[in-house]
Amino acid sequence: MNLDRGKGWLCIVGLGPGDPKWVTPEVTATLEAATDIVGYIPYVARIAPRTGLNLHASDNRVEMDRARAALQMASRGKQVVIVSSGDPGVFAMAAAVFEALEGRPDWQALDIRVLPGITAMLAAAAKAGAPLGHDFCAINLSDNLKPVALIEARVRAAAEADFAMAFYNPRSTRRPHTFGRVLDLLRTICTADRLMTFARAVGTPEENVLTVSLAQATPEMADMRTVVIVGNSATRRVGRFVYTPRSAL
Ligand code: SAH
Repeated sequence: MNLDRGKGWLCIVGLGPGDPKWVTPEVTATLEAATDIVGYIPYVARIAPRTGLNLHASDNRVEMDRARAALQMASRGKQVVIVSSGDPGVFAMAAAVFEALEGRPDWQALDIRVLPGITAMLAAAAKAGAPLGHDFCAINLSDNLKPVALIEARVRAAAEADFAMAFYNPRSTRRPHTFGRVLDLLRTICTADRLMTFARAVGTPEENVLTVSLAQATPEMADMRTVVIVGNSATRRVGRFVYTPRSAL
Protein backbone atom coordinates (compact mmCIF):
# COMPACT_ATOMS: atom_id res chain seq x y z
CA MET A 1 0.00 0.00 0.00
CA ASN A 2 3.04 2.17 -0.61
CA LEU A 3 3.82 3.55 2.81
CA ASP A 4 6.72 5.96 2.48
CA ARG A 5 9.63 4.56 4.52
CA GLY A 6 11.38 7.92 4.56
CA LYS A 7 8.49 9.99 5.91
CA GLY A 8 6.26 10.04 8.97
CA TRP A 9 2.89 8.29 8.81
CA LEU A 10 0.22 6.96 11.12
CA CYS A 11 -1.80 3.77 10.61
CA ILE A 12 -4.61 2.82 12.97
CA VAL A 13 -4.94 -0.95 12.70
CA GLY A 14 -7.13 -3.76 14.01
CA LEU A 15 -5.43 -6.91 15.32
CA GLY A 16 -8.63 -8.98 15.29
CA PRO A 17 -10.06 -10.66 18.39
CA GLY A 18 -6.98 -12.72 19.27
CA ASP A 19 -6.14 -15.52 16.85
CA PRO A 20 -2.97 -14.59 14.88
CA LYS A 21 -4.59 -16.15 11.78
CA TRP A 22 -7.14 -13.34 11.90
CA VAL A 23 -4.56 -10.54 11.52
CA THR A 24 -4.77 -9.35 7.91
CA PRO A 25 -1.66 -9.48 5.70
CA GLU A 26 -1.96 -5.69 5.27
CA VAL A 27 -1.75 -5.15 9.03
CA THR A 28 1.19 -7.57 9.36
CA ALA A 29 3.12 -5.72 6.63
CA THR A 30 2.40 -2.37 8.27
CA LEU A 31 3.57 -3.58 11.69
CA GLU A 32 6.81 -4.74 10.02
CA ALA A 33 7.35 -1.25 8.56
CA ALA A 34 6.70 0.65 11.81
CA THR A 35 9.19 2.41 14.07
CA ASP A 36 6.68 2.95 16.89
CA ILE A 37 3.68 1.00 18.20
CA VAL A 38 1.13 2.78 20.38
CA GLY A 39 -1.81 1.25 22.26
CA TYR A 40 -3.53 -0.15 25.32
CA ILE A 41 -1.20 -2.46 27.29
CA PRO A 42 -2.73 -5.89 26.38
CA TYR A 43 -2.87 -5.00 22.67
CA VAL A 44 0.74 -3.79 22.51
CA ALA A 45 1.68 -7.05 24.31
CA ARG A 46 0.53 -8.90 21.19
CA ILE A 47 3.30 -7.28 19.10
CA ALA A 48 6.59 -9.19 18.87
CA PRO A 49 9.48 -6.93 19.98
CA ARG A 50 12.32 -6.37 17.51
CA THR A 51 15.35 -4.11 17.23
CA GLY A 52 14.44 -0.62 16.15
CA LEU A 53 10.81 -0.91 17.22
CA ASN A 54 9.63 1.26 20.12
CA LEU A 55 6.60 0.01 22.04
CA HIS A 56 4.44 2.64 23.81
CA ALA A 57 1.88 0.84 25.96
CA SER A 58 -0.58 2.92 27.97
CA ASP A 59 -3.51 2.30 30.28
CA ASN A 60 -7.10 2.32 29.13
CA ARG A 61 -9.15 5.53 29.24
CA VAL A 62 -6.34 7.73 27.94
CA GLU A 63 -7.42 7.40 24.32
CA MET A 64 -7.16 11.11 23.46
CA ASP A 65 -3.67 11.45 25.00
CA ARG A 66 -2.61 8.32 23.12
CA ALA A 67 -4.01 9.67 19.83
CA ARG A 68 -2.24 13.01 20.24
CA ALA A 69 1.05 11.36 21.20
CA ALA A 70 0.88 9.16 18.09
CA LEU A 71 0.10 12.14 15.83
CA GLN A 72 2.96 14.09 17.38
CA MET A 73 5.39 11.24 16.66
CA ALA A 74 4.17 10.90 13.05
CA SER A 75 4.55 14.66 12.53
CA ARG A 76 8.18 14.30 13.69
CA GLY A 77 8.88 11.71 11.00
CA LYS A 78 8.16 8.45 12.88
CA GLN A 79 6.29 5.57 11.26
CA VAL A 80 3.60 4.96 13.82
CA VAL A 81 1.00 2.22 14.24
CA ILE A 82 -1.84 2.49 16.76
CA VAL A 83 -3.10 -0.99 17.58
CA SER A 84 -6.68 -1.82 18.57
CA SER A 85 -8.23 -5.22 19.11
CA GLY A 86 -10.82 -6.32 16.57
CA ASP A 87 -11.49 -3.47 14.14
CA PRO A 88 -10.02 -0.03 14.91
CA GLY A 89 -13.25 1.74 13.94
CA VAL A 90 -15.51 -0.25 16.31
CA PHE A 91 -15.49 1.27 19.81
CA ALA A 92 -11.76 1.82 19.39
CA MET A 93 -8.94 4.21 18.48
CA ALA A 94 -9.76 5.38 14.93
CA ALA A 95 -12.50 7.77 16.06
CA ALA A 96 -10.22 9.11 18.82
CA VAL A 97 -7.55 9.96 16.23
CA PHE A 98 -10.05 11.85 14.04
CA GLU A 99 -11.32 13.70 17.10
CA ALA A 100 -7.71 14.74 17.82
CA LEU A 101 -7.42 16.06 14.23
CA GLU A 102 -10.17 18.64 14.82
CA GLY A 103 -8.66 22.11 14.65
CA ARG A 104 -5.22 20.76 13.69
CA PRO A 105 -4.66 21.32 9.95
CA ASP A 106 -0.98 20.38 10.41
CA TRP A 107 -1.95 16.90 11.62
CA GLN A 108 -4.76 16.63 9.02
CA ALA A 109 -2.08 16.88 6.28
CA LEU A 110 -0.28 13.73 7.55
CA ASP A 111 -0.42 10.35 5.81
CA ILE A 112 -3.07 8.71 8.04
CA ARG A 113 -4.74 5.39 7.24
CA VAL A 114 -7.23 3.11 8.97
CA LEU A 115 -6.68 -0.61 8.32
CA PRO A 116 -9.68 -2.82 9.12
CA GLY A 117 -9.71 -5.94 11.26
CA ILE A 118 -12.20 -8.63 12.23
CA THR A 119 -14.43 -7.18 14.92
CA ALA A 120 -15.41 -9.35 17.93
CA MET A 121 -19.09 -9.71 17.00
CA LEU A 122 -18.27 -11.14 13.56
CA ALA A 123 -15.79 -13.65 14.96
CA ALA A 124 -18.32 -14.61 17.65
CA ALA A 125 -21.14 -14.93 15.13
CA ALA A 126 -19.00 -17.19 12.94
CA LYS A 127 -18.27 -19.47 15.91
CA ALA A 128 -21.97 -19.74 16.78
CA GLY A 129 -23.28 -20.13 13.23
CA ALA A 130 -24.98 -17.08 11.67
CA PRO A 131 -26.95 -15.18 14.35
CA LEU A 132 -26.36 -11.89 12.48
CA GLY A 133 -27.83 -13.17 9.21
CA HIS A 134 -30.54 -10.49 9.16
CA ASP A 135 -30.62 -6.83 10.31
CA PHE A 136 -28.60 -6.17 13.44
CA CYS A 137 -26.95 -3.43 15.46
CA ALA A 138 -23.99 -3.12 17.81
CA ILE A 139 -24.31 -1.37 21.17
CA ASN A 140 -21.51 -0.58 23.61
CA LEU A 141 -22.83 -1.14 27.14
CA SER A 142 -20.02 0.87 28.77
CA ASP A 143 -21.13 4.10 30.39
CA ASN A 144 -17.63 5.63 30.15
CA LEU A 145 -18.64 7.90 27.30
CA LYS A 146 -22.46 8.02 27.50
CA PRO A 147 -25.16 7.93 30.17
CA VAL A 148 -26.86 4.67 31.17
CA ALA A 149 -30.24 6.19 30.19
CA LEU A 150 -29.03 6.44 26.56
CA ILE A 151 -27.78 2.83 26.60
CA GLU A 152 -31.17 1.65 27.84
CA ALA A 153 -33.05 3.78 25.31
CA ARG A 154 -31.02 2.28 22.45
CA VAL A 155 -31.43 -1.30 23.66
CA ARG A 156 -35.17 -0.72 24.01
CA ALA A 157 -35.49 0.80 20.51
CA ALA A 158 -33.44 -2.03 18.94
CA ALA A 159 -35.44 -4.74 20.72
CA GLU A 160 -38.74 -3.12 19.80
CA ALA A 161 -37.62 -2.93 16.15
CA ASP A 162 -36.66 -6.64 16.35
CA PHE A 163 -33.00 -6.12 15.49
CA ALA A 164 -30.50 -8.76 16.51
CA MET A 165 -27.98 -7.03 18.78
CA ALA A 166 -24.32 -7.37 19.65
CA PHE A 167 -23.32 -5.98 23.05
CA TYR A 168 -19.71 -4.88 23.49
CA ASN A 169 -18.19 -4.18 26.94
CA PRO A 170 -21.21 -5.88 28.55
CA ARG A 171 -20.04 -6.01 32.15
CA SER A 172 -17.08 -4.82 34.17
CA THR A 173 -16.21 -5.04 37.86
CA ARG A 174 -16.57 -1.25 38.06
CA ARG A 175 -20.17 -1.37 36.79
CA PRO A 176 -21.51 -4.85 37.51
CA HIS A 177 -25.19 -3.83 37.39
CA THR A 178 -25.75 -2.35 33.91
CA PHE A 179 -25.89 -5.72 32.20
CA GLY A 180 -28.42 -7.09 34.71
CA ARG A 181 -30.59 -4.05 34.01
CA VAL A 182 -30.28 -4.65 30.27
CA LEU A 183 -31.38 -8.27 30.75
CA ASP A 184 -34.38 -7.07 32.80
CA LEU A 185 -35.24 -4.60 30.05
CA LEU A 186 -35.02 -7.29 27.35
CA ARG A 187 -37.37 -9.48 29.41
CA THR A 188 -40.04 -6.75 29.22
CA ILE A 189 -39.89 -6.74 25.38
CA CYS A 190 -38.74 -10.18 24.14
CA THR A 191 -40.21 -13.60 24.90
CA ALA A 192 -38.37 -15.92 27.30
CA ASP A 193 -37.15 -18.20 24.50
CA ARG A 194 -35.11 -15.45 22.76
CA LEU A 195 -31.66 -16.89 22.03
CA MET A 196 -28.53 -15.20 23.37
CA THR A 197 -24.93 -16.18 22.61
CA PHE A 198 -22.22 -15.36 25.13
CA ALA A 199 -18.89 -15.51 23.29
CA ARG A 200 -15.87 -15.10 25.55
CA ALA A 201 -12.24 -14.64 24.49
CA VAL A 202 -13.01 -15.71 20.93
CA GLY A 203 -9.90 -16.69 18.99
CA THR A 204 -7.81 -17.30 22.12
CA PRO A 205 -7.06 -20.51 24.09
CA GLU A 206 -9.72 -19.44 26.66
CA GLU A 207 -12.47 -19.23 24.05
CA ASN A 208 -15.94 -20.22 25.28
CA VAL A 209 -19.14 -19.82 23.26
CA LEU A 210 -22.44 -20.57 24.97
CA THR A 211 -25.99 -20.08 23.65
CA VAL A 212 -28.89 -19.93 26.11
CA SER A 213 -32.44 -18.58 26.18
CA LEU A 214 -33.19 -15.16 27.65
CA ALA A 215 -34.88 -17.01 30.54
CA GLN A 216 -31.62 -18.82 31.33
CA ALA A 217 -29.29 -15.82 30.88
CA THR A 218 -27.61 -14.42 33.99
CA PRO A 219 -25.39 -11.34 34.37
CA GLU A 220 -22.48 -13.57 35.48
CA MET A 221 -22.35 -15.15 32.02
CA ALA A 222 -20.69 -11.96 30.72
CA ASP A 223 -17.47 -10.12 31.55
CA MET A 224 -15.23 -7.65 29.74
CA ARG A 225 -13.84 -10.38 27.48
CA THR A 226 -17.33 -11.35 26.30
CA VAL A 227 -19.38 -10.12 23.39
CA VAL A 228 -23.07 -10.95 23.72
CA ILE A 229 -25.26 -11.56 20.70
CA VAL A 230 -29.02 -11.36 21.15
CA GLY A 231 -30.94 -12.92 18.29
CA ASN A 232 -34.07 -11.44 16.76
CA SER A 233 -37.51 -13.08 17.20
CA ALA A 234 -36.78 -15.54 14.35
CA THR A 235 -33.31 -16.64 15.52
CA ARG A 236 -33.29 -20.40 16.01
CA ARG A 237 -31.11 -23.43 16.55
CA VAL A 238 -30.29 -25.96 13.84
CA GLY A 239 -28.20 -28.88 15.06
CA ARG A 240 -25.36 -27.38 17.12
CA PHE A 241 -25.64 -24.01 15.35
CA VAL A 242 -27.62 -20.80 15.86
CA TYR A 243 -28.81 -18.78 12.92
CA THR A 244 -31.10 -15.92 11.98
CA PRO A 245 -33.02 -16.48 8.72
CA ARG A 246 -32.19 -13.99 5.98
CA SER A 247 -35.86 -13.29 5.34
CA ALA A 248 -38.41 -11.57 7.56
CA LEU A 249 -41.27 -12.33 5.15
N1 SAH B 1 -12.38 -2.77 18.57
C1 SAH B 1 -12.84 -3.99 19.22
C2 SAH B 1 -13.80 -3.71 20.36
C3 SAH B 1 -13.17 -2.98 21.53
S1 SAH B 1 -14.28 -2.81 22.87
C4 SAH B 1 -13.48 -4.90 18.17
O1 SAH B 1 -13.73 -4.46 17.03
O2 SAH B 1 -13.74 -6.07 18.47
C5 SAH B 1 -13.83 -4.23 23.86
C6 SAH B 1 -14.94 -5.25 23.85
O3 SAH B 1 -14.88 -6.02 22.63
C7 SAH B 1 -14.89 -6.30 24.95
O4 SAH B 1 -15.45 -5.84 26.17
C8 SAH B 1 -15.72 -7.42 24.35
O5 SAH B 1 -17.11 -7.11 24.42
C9 SAH B 1 -15.31 -7.33 22.87
N2 SAH B 1 -14.21 -8.26 22.54
C10 SAH B 1 -12.97 -7.92 22.16
N3 SAH B 1 -12.22 -9.03 21.91
C11 SAH B 1 -13.03 -10.08 22.13
C12 SAH B 1 -12.86 -11.50 22.04
N4 SAH B 1 -11.70 -12.05 21.64
N5 SAH B 1 -13.92 -12.30 22.33
C13 SAH B 1 -15.10 -11.76 22.71
N6 SAH B 1 -15.32 -10.42 22.82
C14 SAH B 1 -14.30 -9.60 22.53
